[in-house]
Amino acid sequence: MTNRRRFITLLGGAFGSSVLLSGCFGNPPGATDSSATPQAASPAAGNLETTTIKLGYIPILEAAPLVVGVEKGFFAKHGLKVELAKQASWPAARDNVVLGSSGGGIDGGQWQLPMPHMITEGVITDGKKVPMYVLAQLISQANGIAVSNSLKNDNLGVDLSSKVDVFKRFPQKEGRKFRAAHTYPNANQDMWIRYWLAAGGIDPDKDIELLTVPSTETLQGMRNGTMEAFSTGDPWPFRIVRDDIGYTAALTAQIWPDHPEEFLAVRADWVDKNPKAAVALVKGLIEAQQWADKQENRGEVAKLISSRAYFNTPVDVLEPALKGQYLLGADKKPENDPKKGPIYWMSDRGVISYPYKSLSLWFLVESLRWNMHPGKLTSINQARAIVNKVNREDIWRQAATELGLPAKDIPTTSSRGKETFFDGIIYDPENPQAYLNSLKIKR
Ligand code: CA
Repeated sequence: MTNRRRFITLLGGAFGSSVLLSGCFGNPPGATDSSATPQAASPAAGNLETTTIKLGYIPILEAAPLVVGVEKGFFAKHGLKVELAKQASWPAARDNVVLGSSGGGIDGGQWQLPMPHMITEGVITDGKKVPMYVLAQLISQANGIAVSNSLKNDNLGVDLSSKVDVFKRFPQKEGRKFRAAHTYPNANQDMWIRYWLAAGGIDPDKDIELLTVPSTETLQGMRNGTMEAFSTGDPWPFRIVRDDIGYTAALTAQIWPDHPEEFLAVRADWVDKNPKAAVALVKGLIEAQQWADKQENRGEVAKLISSRAYFNTPVDVLEPALKGQYLLGADKKPENDPKKGPIYWMSDRGVISYPYKSLSLWFLVESLRWNMHPGKLTSINQARAIVNKVNREDIWRQAATELGLPAKDIPTTSSRGKETFFDGIIYDPENPQAYLNSLKIKR
């Protein structure tokens, strides 16, 4: 076999032909798609059990590393053709992963937590258990709580302890409770707004009405005065501010700096059948996250995700949030701090891509706090057992090792240690019960 033929065979169709020709045979860069920077194939790239995977995503900044991985050739470099499928909603993503790609759905993708854990247990899939593995964290931070302009004078911020009356007097003043929305129950954005309210002394189940509403309907509701708050991922908070519908009361980066946000998780049967391809997927993702994390690349990240094929959202809506440029509070005070924006690879707490069990456990502990799955999730021990089964730190470590990352960037334990929230509450993964005991409002 000639070198050229062998090379094409090894790639197994993982590259588009123009990328193959321009990237590998010395054609001038002008011959390539200008948005793509083909990466040289890694030696292990031809060795995979499969060369394709179909991943779902939701068009919020959490998905950027997946788009970057595809568009900048990081997955292809490791022999994998990743097909990204935009999901209409979180329930659609959930239903599609139950189907699997063989059934016309998806093999995995981007998730709020603890969706993969609850899908594994059949808790949110009508009892149908579809085991999944969490392979990496996609992003930290970049979510926020937007509040309607109808509450401009109240100037709500991260600390609500002096604003309790705004919420509790709502029924007398408006004839109904304060209404807040998220896009999927019992996961990140529901948990962030609950944490924010409860820390200020507002019971999210009793003092307000907390609803699951699609983004566009929430915006409409905020515009016409039937809804007051929205807990969501960027760029939605930015869009609400730019369109003068409301203001950003709190960034999740303020509530819990460097917090776990969304994750890459894939069906366990896919990973078990394709262990090398799973490692290749994480290798591509890690390199995409490293690239996307560089502030000098954020403008290009905005361009890549803005396209019609992906978010179909103007660059000027995406770029400020990607750069940590926010307008905070009712007076829209400019904030320009990349450390409060999306973090894809490295924060002050170290590598964020690593799927720490301690961080995933928090979402299950918080599920217990609010009794989100009565009779289905009932103890910390059960929560630990689920996380131990679902989080595959070992695959991440293997990918990082094969990439030759420095040892300091490859965590060796399952715990990031104690976590501190803005109100001084501490979550110690060694003792989640102490965390639960320290919370005043809970079920
Ligand atoms: Ca999110």
